[in-house]
Amino acid sequence: MAPGITDLPPSPSPPAVKSTATKTVPLASTSSNGHAGGEPGAEDTHNLNLDNLNNNSNNGESTAATTTTSQEDETPPSTFRYTTTKNLRDAQRRVEHDFRSDTVTVPTEDMMQAIIDASFQDDLYDESGDECVNRLQDRLAEMTGKEAALWVLSGTMGNQICLRTHLVQPPHTVLLDYRAHVHCWETGALPVMSQASVTQVHPSNGVHLTVDDVKRHIIPEGSIYFPPTRVVSLENTLSGTILPLKDAREISDFVRSFPVPEGERPIAMHLDGARLFDAVVAEGVDLKEYCACFDSISICLAKGLGAPMGSVIVGSKKFIQRAKYFRKMFGGGTRQPGMMAAAALAALEHTIPRLPQVHALTRQTAASIRALGYTIALPVQTNMIVLDLAKDGIPAAAFVEYGKRHGVTLFPSGRLVFHHQNSPAAVEKLVAALRELMEDKKAGKTLVDHEVSGVMCNDIPYLIINALAGE
Ligand SMILES: *Cc1c(COP(=O)(O)O)cnc(C)c1O
Repeated sequence: MAPGITDLPPSPSPPAVKSTATKTVPLASTSSNGHAGGEPGAEDTHNLNLDNLNNNSNNGESTAATTTTSQEDETPPSTFRYTTTKNLRDAQRRVEHDFRSDTVTVPTEDMMQAIIDASFQDDLYDESGDECVNRLQDRLAEMTGKEAALWVLSGTMGNQICLRTHLVQPPHTVLLDYRAHVHCWETGALPVMSQASVTQVHPSNGVHLTVDDVKRHIIPEGSIYFPPTRVVSLENTLSGTILPLKDAREISDFVRSFPVPEGERPIAMHLDGARLFDAVVAEGVDLKEYCACFDSISICLAKGLGAPMGSVIVGSKKFIQRAKYFRKMFGGGTRQPGMMAAAALAALEHTIPRLPQVHALTRQTAASIRALGYTIALPVQTNMIVLDLAKDGIPAAAFVEYGKRHGVTLFPSGRLVFHHQNSPAAVEKLVAALRELMEDKKAGKTLVDHEVSGVMCNDIPYLIINALAGE
């Protein structure tokens, strides 16, 4: 980094907004409840005294903003008009009824408070990085038992940076489940970013890969026809199903001891752990033990954990050091990500303890839905229920339509995703919608069957139907 570049002036305090109201209301009722806690029609505007927050935002360092002298005491207290309360509460109420994905989760008030209390350093210019980002990275490294961690903008970016860091010299292949996100859902990034081919494996047990699947498909070096396997990329959870620790360990032991030419690094183990916390909490295994099976892991903060954005990748110090080049190259170097890291830290605190409740609600709902006569395509092990609408003869459009009629938001694919902001009342509406739909179907009523749009349309049932068709 060029000398002098880190000598930035102290960060300015947030602009003072003249307050017309006299009352200073604390921002958050700090309801740690994930459900929307606010009463409808709550005031739109709260004023928040930011004096303390300004100090925090400078991390106690002596700056112009904090070294106030007696003359400056007359400056009116810096206040911040918090006009977004209504938007936030509306959003919280909206996502209670949204079963499309756990990405729909919105910040809790604790997260909003953390955003205001965040550090505001430039994560690129400041050589020591941003304080909240560093805290988040340290926390994830510590939790996963890895040497280092790196904040990235999205799960896709995290996965592709990891894969690119492992894949140094084509020809090479990544062995993965044929439904793998890194292959199917990341815009074809692997061949573009890493010049890699893929070996798509259909799990022989219909749910997750095992060591036998990997043994059958791994490509050794030696034949000029076949690009050798350089990475085995696993996913946990995959469509809500768990890749058990036992299988991850067996695959890892096999892959890491797979013979490679003299001087070549062992085949790398990558984990797309977008929902790794759901997986280890539901399986009841140790996160560090799980992570020990992998050289790199990408973990989403913005899925079930509920942070507004971001992912973290973990690995060895050397790996993360190298990965930083690719993060910058892929446009992932960020200036003031402290706010998002702070929200993610609050999200870890808030949401991880709530995952068992989310999973229990998912299981109960699955039992109700099954009792209504629906076919569930995959084992319900975490926060997802994947319905096989095609098998039950239910048009995607009708599925969405009945949901809408009962006030719940659904994807046409038949995949239901639960998260910490769903309310029990919304779950009742969901079951009522599906009951009416099944009754109408059984009564021979004509169901709407027009084209439906939505990113989830077709793909998952299509993949599952293939899987069920004896592959
Ligand atoms: C969502 C998801 C990702 C990617 O996350 P984005 O932040 O949407 O890029 C990667 N893998 C899996 C399994 C996911 O569900």
